Amino acid sequence: MVGNRAAVGYEPVAMAEPTQAPADTKECCRRTRERWERQIRAYYVSFPVIKDVPCDGCRQILEIRVFGLPPREPSGT
Ligand SMILES: [Zn+2]
Repeated sequence: MVGNRAAVGYEPVAMAEPTQAPADTKECCRRTRERWERQIRAYYVSFPVIKDVPCDGCRQILEIRVFGLPPREPSGT
């Protein structure tokens, strides 16, 4: 009973942090994402907001992430 090879060498690959969200390949997904992000920024008061929503067009699940409101007003005077 020798020769058992331990299954090593399959270390979990650390998720690299992308500099940008993966581009939506389809127009319907992009539009759905933009619509959700707009609504979240308009109605949510606490961030971050992370939601999984189905695309309006192809029903693919999109991960919507909004980390905060975009800077609109310059701080200070
Ligand atoms: Zn879609």
